[in-house]
Amino acid sequence: MKYQRSSALFNEANQYIPGGVNSPVRAFKSVRGVPVFMKSAKGAYLTDADENIYIDYINSWGPAILGHTHPEVLEELKIQAEKGFSFGAPTELETEIAKFITENVPNIDQIRMVSSGTEACMSAVRLARGFTGRDKIIKFEGCYHGHSDSFLIKAGSGAVTFGNPNSPGVTQGTAKDTLLARYNDIDQVEALFKENPEEIAAIIIEPVAGNMGCVLPENDFLQKLRKLCDENGALLIFDEVMTGFRLAFGGAQELFNVKADLVTYGKVIGGGLPVGAFAARNEIMDCLAPKGAVYQAGTLSGNPLAMRAGLKTLQIIKNDSEFFDRLAKTTEVLDTEIAKILNEKGIAHKINRKGSMMSVFFDTEGVSNFDDAQKANHAQFNRFFHHMLNNGVYLPPSGYETYFISDAIQDEEINKTLEAVRKFEN
Ligand code: PMP
Repeated sequence: MKYQRSSALFNEANQYIPGGVNSPVRAFKSVRGVPVFMKSAKGAYLTDADENIYIDYINSWGPAILGHTHPEVLEELKIQAEKGFSFGAPTELETEIAKFITENVPNIDQIRMVSSGTEACMSAVRLARGFTGRDKIIKFEGCYHGHSDSFLIKAGSGAVTFGNPNSPGVTQGTAKDTLLARYNDIDQVEALFKENPEEIAAIIIEPVAGNMGCVLPENDFLQKLRKLCDENGALLIFDEVMTGFRLAFGGAQELFNVKADLVTYGKVIGGGLPVGAFAARNEIMDCLAPKGAVYQAGTLSGNPLAMRAGLKTLQIIKNDSEFFDRLAKTTEVLDTEIAKILNEKGIAHKINRKGSMMSVFFDTEGVSNFDDAQKANHAQFNRFFHHMLNNGVYLPPSGYETYFISDAIQDEEINKTLEAVRKFEN
């Protein structure tokens, strides 16, 4: 593989864009390399500026669940582009997508569209505070809920990759209202409720975490959180920005049969365009402006191009009764076959997987929380990443991320991926 053009583009980008990228993880800083600049994408494949072709396991960090540039989604975008890009006024389309989602996802009556997952989580927390009249929230170490101030405290994803869990610029005042607990540690959550009686508005959680690598809830953790919230008058917020429409159509709520009070979405819901959303039952959503007093707004919220791409993507998924089983099966094959190869090579590792999310951790007995994720061998992950990249497989460039498997990954792509793993020297 040659990366000359990417190198040149990165040098130039660095003059005009901080760190050369518009979102930190893209810079390949954690894996110590020059980021690959992409030119086009189709199905399971990405083509970079040097004409290298990769099998994509990032899929735009989740949105491209159908694979890239799906023809039916593309057609919808063309039709909408002819009609207008943005109106800043209500459209029938927004009701259509809201109706479709609320009818097919458990426990939500109304949904509000925004333009990113960050906005969705920030707004959900504001709404939880407004609804309960309380200030504090509980978040889990290693979970990432976007870059709004309340969440940049022991956050995962880029925030940890950059060794910068408490970002400068987040005030002490904000930080004091974010209480931290270890993922999968129900005793810590219980203790926080005891220490802060009637002060906690909500628990926010990635029901399957993807931002410290893929980490699963264990021992009915989600069910126990539900119970603690009920006992203490707090709301349970599922951040389903990654898991929504990915683990099941109804996300983690459906998969684990746990009812959340507020749910946030992003990624798949926009079909590759910038969309986020938050949703809840009527009693909670009625508190939102203009009906209620909790303010939230957006110039491009419900943008018609984004709604078209999102609705078509969700319809394709919904109309395919085998969609989630197929994705989970593909991911299972990858997991078991990669594990087999690494075992044959004597490379100690652990793979975490749920549905179409998975991560390979090196040199560890298992990863159930952020501490475990940090103890994994990230230097080895970096070697694995570069090896795979040089063999045409585009993995997330950090050991604190999950792979997102798309429906475009078929036997041929799996075989090529496994071929690359076979060539990995420890
Ligand atoms: N929540 C989760 C679980 C996420 O993974 C992300 C982004 N990766 C966000 C929120 C923030 O979404 P966005 O990057 O669209 O602001």
